[in-house]
Amino acid sequence: MSDPRVRCVAVRSPRGAKTSEIDWGDGHKGVYPHEILRGYCPCAGCQGHSGTIRFLPPSDAQTEIEDIEPVGNYALRLQWFDGHGSGLYSYKYLRALCQCDQCKPGAAADDRSELPRA
Ligand SMILES: [Zn+2]
Ligand SMILES: [Zn+2]
Repeated sequence: MSDPRVRCVAVRSPRGAKTSEIDWGDGHKGVYPHEILRGYCPCAGCQGHSGTIRFLPPSDAQTEIEDIEPVGNYALRLQWFDGHGSGLYSYKYLRALCQCDQCKPGAAADDRSELPRA
């Protein structure tokens, strides 16, 4: 059966929000700033065919989501306000893009510096 870590249970993307959330099958709450989602749009138009995923800094107008629709049970298609909508974000890809405190690189170090001093 499919890995619960890459099974999308729910998506929350309130209109006008700058961040969407995805609940995963293992209970993890994924956090996805739209800037990250758009900048890592996996479509061929954004990524080319080099095989390496690159981040393309989006403009403000490009970070608003118009619609999110599930594709099969393995991906989400994100439709952006500016008309862009060819990116298919597989659950595996989305899970790797998670920006929550636990997943974000360097988060552990940041946490330590936030601890109150004794
Ligand atoms: Zn794209
Ligand atoms: Zn996470």
